[in-house]
Amino acid sequence: MKTAIFPGSFDPFTLGHADIVQRGLQLFDKVVIAIGVNPDKKTMFSAEERLQQISSCYADQPRVEVMLWQGLMVDLARQLQADCFLKGVRSVVDFEYERTMAAVNAQISDPSVETCLLYARPELESLQSSVVRELLHHGADVSAFLPQAVLSQIKR
Ligand code: ADP
Repeated sequence: MKTAIFPGSFDPFTLGHADIVQRGLQLFDKVVIAIGVNPDKKTMFSAEERLQQISSCYADQPRVEVMLWQGLMVDLARQLQADCFLKGVRSVVDFEYERTMAAVNAQISDPSVETCLLYARPELESLQSSVVRELLHHGADVSAFLPQAVLSQIKR
C-alpha cells in the first residue's frame, strides 16, 4: 500500500489544498493530512478546530486520514511507514522552499522518503490560506475559496 503524507498548517484548509488531496488519491492508496502543530506560532484556528474542519471534508473518504503532528515530518513518515511527502507548488517561491525541504527530508530520513510535487491548478495557484484569513478578518465572503464542509464549520 502506498501512503503519502500531505503536511501543512491548513489555517484554514482551502480548495487548493483539497485539490492536491484529490489528485494525490489518484497516485496513492492513502493520503494522510498532517496538520503541523507549532505552539509558538499564532494561528487563526486552533489545532483542534482545523482537525475538525478538515475531518468533516473527508468523513466519507476512508482513504484520507487527518491528524495533528508536533515534530519532524520524517518521524511521522517512519511511524506510518509512508512512502512520500505530497506537496503543492504554486510558484517559484513554493518550488525553492520545497526543493530545500525535499533534500533535507531525504537526507535525514531512514529509509529515505521521497517528495512528490504537484503543480497547483492555474485557477487555484493564487489561493493561499493567509489571503483567506485576511478576508475572514474583514468579514468578506470566502465561499469561493473553501470547501463547503469547512465553510459550514466556520459559520457555526
Ligand atoms: P499556505 O501556504 O496557503 O499557508 P500550507 O502551508 O498549509 O498553506 O500549505 C500546505 C501545502 O499545500 C504546501 O505544499 C502548499 O504548497 C500547498 N498549497 C497551499 N495552497 C495551495 C494551492 N492553492 N494549490 C496547490 N497547493 C497548495
